[in-house]
Amino acid sequence: MYIISGIILKKRVVGIMTGKNLVVAIFKDRIMPTIIPLCLIILLIPVYIYSEEEPYFIKMRQDMVKTQLEGRGIKDRRVLDAMLKVQRHKFVPAEYKMLAYSDSPLPIGKGQTISQPYIVALMTELLQLKGAESVLEIGTGSGYQAAILAELARRVYTIEILPELANHAGALLRGLGYENIIVKCGDGYLGWQEYAPFDAIIITCAPRDVPDRLIEQLANGGRMVVPVGELYQELLLIEKDGSKIKRRSILPVRFVPMIHSH
Ligand code: SAH
Repeated sequence: MYIISGIILKKRVVGIMTGKNLVVAIFKDRIMPTIIPLCLIILLIPVYIYSEEEPYFIKMRQDMVKTQLEGRGIKDRRVLDAMLKVQRHKFVPAEYKMLAYSDSPLPIGKGQTISQPYIVALMTELLQLKGAESVLEIGTGSGYQAAILAELARRVYTIEILPELANHAGALLRGLGYENIIVKCGDGYLGWQEYAPFDAIIITCAPRDVPDRLIEQLANGGRMVVPVGELYQELLLIEKDGSKIKRRSILPVRFVPMIHSH
């Protein structure tokens, strides 16, 4: 892709940096009025190239937020803004880009899926993030949910059991500039003791029951959302209040199973 990184204007010299090459042209004063508009056009070409696909996706994101999220009762403005901002199409395989904002989960390879936008928004809203939290996610997958969390919390720790997915998501999130997300390849059943306790924990694969280690690593007053079950699964909201653990069933869901590493 053509990147124009600078323009040098001197009395009779117009120079344009294109990538690594400095193109210099010497013109007589009378040609300058033609040259300046020409330079402006050349400068705008990369802007066009970069933004070409975006208006289309922006519109799809706006529609997604309006109909799938607000339309179904998601109210937290910060969650809605994060869903408007994060470019979901960058987290799905190329062949699914055009379906990235549809009302369904999508395959992300290795038999795994990125959750439906509504489920991502609902689980995130249930965590009631205000901005200062340390959050643990189990099941990095594509990295999309982690990116949404990173818009809303101070730091996100995310664990993925499949190395290919962990590596891919880590590189993608770094490339997108998320410096407050740490991705680890490992078994989520163990949590991440080094950074515990967490103000919020979100599990995006379904264990048979809530893993004890993760309850232990939840901070006092913290919230956890987790889909629990096998054939029949329900999304649970768990709140920790000292030694008291409050469980609330939110709705039936369908997630990929949480795998045991041993
Ligand atoms: N949150 C993801 C979707 C995850 S799909 C996203 O936004 O794209 C569930 C993921 O959980 C899969 O990638 C699967 O490999 C992972 N997973 C399953 N069992 C796990 C475990 N024990 N520990 C960590 N990750 C696990």
